[in-house]
Amino acid sequence: MEFDVIICFEIHAELKTESKLFCPCATKPGAPPNTQVCPVCAGHPGTLPVLNRKAVEQCIKAGLAMNCAIREHAKFARKNYFYPDLPKGYQISQYDEPLCEYGYLEIMGDDGEPYQVGIKRIHLEEDAGKLVHSAKSFERSEYSLVDFNRAGVPLIEIVADHTRNPVRSVEEARRYLEGIRQVLRYIDASDCIIEEGQFRCDVNISLKPKGSDQFNERVEIKNMASFKAVRAALEYEIKRQSDILATGGTVAQETRLFDEEKQVTILMRSKEDAPDYRYFPEPDLVGLHISQELVEKIASQMPELPSVKAQRFVAAYGISKADALLLTRERELSHYFEEAAKHCQDRKRLAIWTIKELFRILNENKITVEQCLVPPQDFGRLVQLISSGEITEKIGKTVLKEMVDAALSSGKPGKGPGQIIEERGLKPITDRGALERLVLEAMEAHPEAVEKIRAGKPEPVNFLIGQIMKKTNGRAHAGRLREIIAEKFSS
Ligand SMILES: [Zn+2]
Repeated sequence: MEFDVIICFEIHAELKTESKLFCPCATKPGAPPNTQVCPVCAGHPGTLPVLNRKAVEQCIKAGLAMNCAIREHAKFARKNYFYPDLPKGYQISQYDEPLCEYGYLEIMGDDGEPYQVGIKRIHLEEDAGKLVHSAKSFERSEYSLVDFNRAGVPLIEIVADHTRNPVRSVEEARRYLEGIRQVLRYIDASDCIIEEGQFRCDVNISLKPKGSDQFNERVEIKNMASFKAVRAALEYEIKRQSDILATGGTVAQETRLFDEEKQVTILMRSKEDAPDYRYFPEPDLVGLHISQELVEKIASQMPELPSVKAQRFVAAYGISKADALLLTRERELSHYFEEAAKHCQDRKRLAIWTIKELFRILNENKITVEQCLVPPQDFGRLVQLISSGEITEKIGKTVLKEMVDAALSSGKPGKGPGQIIEERGLKPITDRGALERLVLEAMEAHPEAVEKIRAGKPEPVNFLIGQIMKKTNGRAHAGRLREIIAEKFSS
């Protein structure tokens, strides 16, 4: 039996603001516990919330970036529930009048075609505090501590629409989550650092037999702390539900938790005791009126979004779509590439060098492109030198590594590529006579390779070139060596 899958995310992202949603407390991550707390966010009786304008603007910005309609009138509501990390006993959120509605995010579908995943709403709310358990898991803990630094930090919740183009597979789920995170980082609404809990999600999943239009009950999965966990939880849950349906059983509507250690989902609560949050309009805040001018102002300041930028890169630089997508993955990286491109005519090579060589060095050093401290113009010039044949690819790699190492050890940009090549004598050997001498020496030293080439085997040619490269530290031009070797054997 085969099944269609519907996957709907509820994503929480912490907004980037200096202060909390309803009080002036700082939002800096990593501060000592309970040092960013005041009577308002600690829920003392008699205190009143004052709305943070910047948070409203950030939420509207996110809505516009995800093609939402921005409501003219929005309001806040109380969501009532008891939990030790919720000092007021309720959370100020939005219920029937959220700031943003009816949006979508375009991703690439599994069929390779663009697919606009429906977004039902994006609303603004405050975060809860954080419980810190004495042991790794709650069950094994002797005690738990509560840190209210996070209580009141502004969040947006992005709710997918299960009726409009829902996510249909684990792969689409990954692209959707990465796409949302990418957009929020591009517009600077959130850093979305997953390890800091700035980007979290719950997911609803239901199955139906292929061809049928009757979907089974939805199951919600909570407590997934990484993209990897989301994938594992979805794969497990699709399998679990398919097995139940294939043997004639029924899937119950319930909330499940993902157990990271065992890589399984476990029952948290069934439909019967699903909580009733008793939402009602927040009496301490007036309704929000969002003027058309404000929306237009935010729209006019919106940076170029990643999908638009990727298209422009293809047109402007003549690079492949796959390369453009990689180069626009992060805003800083795309900016770096564009700056480098001002100093390099060979954009295709620049794209390849960025994706292969620069990415590799960044990964090895576990740094971002900004942290590598090599100015983009130096990187562009280096690739230009390779392109024009002034240095070999191999020397180029050595120079790039040297530039990054020097910058990292001194904390500031070091010498440019031209100076390094000059000082270290890295100019390639282009003199025909010198190259010929190198070839003859290599042939003399390796008669067995010469024999094989004479017998018609091509592989030892690469061996000879490799020997010469070793001897010259990669300064000999491989293409010209190949030509000379070919001449030696044809005559
Ligand atoms: Zn506060």
